[in-house]
Amino acid sequence: MGSYVVPGVFDAHFHLNPGEQGKVAVRRYMASGGSGINLVNLPDYSDGYSGYYEKRYELTIKLAESARESGLRVSVTLGPYPLDYFFWEKGGFNAKQMMLDGVELAAKYCSEHRASAIGEIGRPHFPVEQNITEVSNEVIMRCMQLSKEIGCAVVLHTEDLDSTGIEGIYSMAVQAGADPRKIVKHHASPEVNHVRPELSRSILATRENVRKAINEKTSNFMLESDYVDDPAKPDKVIPPDSVPKRAIMIKEQYQNNEEIFASIFHDLPEFVFSL
Ligand SMILES: [Zn+2]
Repeated sequence: MGSYVVPGVFDAHFHLNPGEQGKVAVRRYMASGGSGINLVNLPDYSDGYSGYYEKRYELTIKLAESARESGLRVSVTLGPYPLDYFFWEKGGFNAKQMMLDGVELAAKYCSEHRASAIGEIGRPHFPVEQNITEVSNEVIMRCMQLSKEIGCAVVLHTEDLDSTGIEGIYSMAVQAGADPRKIVKHHASPEVNHVRPELSRSILATRENVRKAINEKTSNFMLESDYVDDPAKPDKVIPPDSVPKRAIMIKEQYQNNEEIFASIFHDLPEFVFSL
C-alpha cells in the first residue's frame, strides 16, 4: 500500500508562483505519482495596471515551461480572474473593457496553441451588485463564443452552482454555440454532476467529493487540488498531491478503477485541454 503509483494522474486546476515553494509542490506532486496538470493563471495586483494581462500570461507560460522541464505534462489556462473587476475599478479603468481585452489576449494565446483554455473566468464567488453580475456574464458569454470560434476550453470560477445555476451556464453555452463539454465548471459540486452532464466539471479532490462523484456514475468530471501556491498559506485549499492520493484511494476501493482513471485522467483532460 502506498508504494505503487497510478500512471497518468492529472490535476485539472493547479496554480504556481515563481519561487522555491512552487518547485517543491511540483516535486511533491510528482513523487506521489502526479504526471500532468492544467496550470491556471493567478492574479497578482502588485504587478500594476500597465500591460497587466500580458505580464501575468507570460509568467504563467514561463512557469508551465519549467514544470515541463521537471517532466510534467502541462496545459495552460489564461484569463482575467473574476475579482479583477474590483482591481480595474479601483484604478479608475473601464473594468468591463479591460477584462474583455484580457479575454481577447487569452484567446490569441489559445489560437497560437500557447494555451488551451480561457480561465479562470466567471463571476465572483460571493454576492455582488447586479451590474457586476451583468458584466461578469458578458465576459462569460464572450469566452463561450471564443470557445466556439477557436475551439479552446473555458474554465469557470463562479459562486457555488445548484441545478438552476448549472442550467444557467448550460443555456449560455448553447446560446453561444459552444460545445458544453469544452466548458469546465471549476470547484463543482458532485451532487449536481447529473444535471446537464454535457458540461464538464472539475471537482476538489477530497475523499468525500471523489466518492460522491463516482457514485453519480457520470464521466463528465476531472479532479483538482486548486493548489494556490500562496507562501502565507502553503496548504490553502488542499495539498498539491491530493489528486494522486485520491487516485490510490480509487485504485484500492473501486473495482472499475481502470475505467474511472481512463475517464478522469485521460479521455476528458485530453478532450478539454487538447493534451
Ligand atoms: Zn483557481
